[in-house]
Amino acid sequence: MAGPRPVRAPRGSALSARGWPQEAALRMLKNNLDPEVAEHPDELVVYGGTGRAARDWRSFDAMVATLRTLGPDETMLVQSGRPVGVMTTHEWAPRVLIANSNLVGDWATWEEFRRLERLGLTMYGQMTAGSWIYIGTQGILQGTYETFAAVAAKRFGGSLAGTLTLTAGLGGMGGAQPLAVTMNGGAALCVDCDPRALERRIAHGYLDERADSLDEALARAARARDERRALSVGVVANAAEAVPRLLASGAPVDIVTDQTSAHDPLAYLPVGVPFEDMADYAASDPEGFTLRARESMARHVEAMVGFKDAGAEVFDYGNSIRGEAQLAGYDRAFDFPGFVPAYIRPLFCEGKGPFRWAALSGDPADIAATDRAVLDLFPDNEPLARWIRLAGERVRFQGLPARICWLGYGERERAGERFNGMVARGELAAPVVIGRDHLDCGSVASPYRETEGMRDGSDAIADWPLLNAMVNVASGASWVSLHHGGGVGMGRSIHAGQVTVADGTVLAGEKIRRVLTNDPGMGVIRHVDAGYEEAEAVAEARGVRVPMRER
Ligand code: NAD
Repeated sequence: MAGPRPVRAPRGSALSARGWPQEAALRMLKNNLDPEVAEHPDELVVYGGTGRAARDWRSFDAMVATLRTLGPDETMLVQSGRPVGVMTTHEWAPRVLIANSNLVGDWATWEEFRRLERLGLTMYGQMTAGSWIYIGTQGILQGTYETFAAVAAKRFGGSLAGTLTLTAGLGGMGGAQPLAVTMNGGAALCVDCDPRALERRIAHGYLDERADSLDEALARAARARDERRALSVGVVANAAEAVPRLLASGAPVDIVTDQTSAHDPLAYLPVGVPFEDMADYAASDPEGFTLRARESMARHVEAMVGFKDAGAEVFDYGNSIRGEAQLAGYDRAFDFPGFVPAYIRPLFCEGKGPFRWAALSGDPADIAATDRAVLDLFPDNEPLARWIRLAGERVRFQGLPARICWLGYGERERAGERFNGMVARGELAAPVVIGRDHLDCGSVASPYRETEGMRDGSDAIADWPLLNAMVNVASGASWVSLHHGGGVGMGRSIHAGQVTVADGTVLAGEKIRRVLTNDPGMGVIRHVDAGYEEAEAVAEARGVRVPMRER
């Protein structure tokens, strides 16, 4: 039977499939599992707890083989990481349609999901793991950078210099935190129970240094804070012990957040369990493990609330830790806000979100050229220009070279068309794929995260991501995905993604124009519908049609 082996996306301009959209899906599936990209490639786990790119190795092989022979009028259907059909469609249809981890409402629990997973019937797709557009930690770096910049703007005069941020979780996504803090000028103390996570972040240039004890880590980070130096220090510890200890010791912490894998209680290390025993314990006694993990999360969140009471800026960074702490009986769990209502929603109202692209050539020069194109297209957007310049200097690529930047309604389409023109004129060595995170303005229903505290109370309405997926299919995206449970776990989110290939053809240009207009357009109309004036102004200024506002 097919088993684990190293996987890497092909590079260069030669096709191994029958067209660039199929080739792109093939390369991005493989890229997600590149050991440079994936957290645990042997288990097909890309990031975010157990977010997988394929259900098992046989399914992976079948998808690769199918993509190689798939015609330009055919569509491969993927059900939770396994290819289940190929249908004749047409050239405007997506080449791949993906549905991952979806469960009927009353059954949408981790327990039922695990039962079905054990039977080999489903897999957890997270957001960009099962939809093949994960680009390593950079993917989240920009959003994290923006969030900490917003914290700086709100509380600290526009810079984090002279502040200390305390956080935990240095995994695939959480690993962006130390660099995002130092890019904003601040000091960071980062806790993770897995020494490999620290080593990986140091190797990739996301974490500056590692201390041998919590006391030493605090001493170094606090000194950097006092000297207004940017520095990130990591330490191996259990956050559920470290955060209460730091609170009790009166550590001079200004900002507190967390990105442990709290969305999945089987991926959060309970207090008193040695890290080496975590996997065996979780597998042998999931119920007992879950209870202890939730209890530990309650202590962790209680300490975060303690820091808030002491005056720190505290926010939930989208991992559902408040919900889990509440399940353990801690009643002040929601005393601090999620990061979306606190900092991101105004951007969503403008259709802004995590636009990203990857160079299928594998040539970093292609990303450098697209970086220059973005700077040229948006000369007045200073924060964007600062990000693109810093990313060019400080971000090390993992797998295929890629870039992310947040662009809004009207902007994404312009960037996409420019990239397609560059491919057509031979200014890039091969086509690029243009996609995004599922964490976007109009593509997700997630009441603990992206749609927390919507103005009209529509947090849990999940029609929007379904419409978003259908709109992207109707607009010509190359592959479209519809997932459940990403980010915050089973029963708590439904979300959609799209990836569109810029291969330089006229047809690709037409598809790009529609997809990259309609996809962020969903964000504008979703927020108009919920009563946000900022979104109404964007709709009015840029001609987004909203029938209920037309008279
Ligand atoms: P990951 O599984 O790659 O990493 C999680 C890390 O947490 C691991 O390194 C693990 O060792 C560590 N950890 C677990 N229990 C711990 C404990 N008790 N103390 C200290 N460390 C502990 O996950 P990831 O991809 O980095 O995602 C982290 C979380 O953030 C997930 O819940 C994910 O859903 C969420 N997330 C948020 C956003 C966002 O935009 N805010 C985006 C993506 C993911």
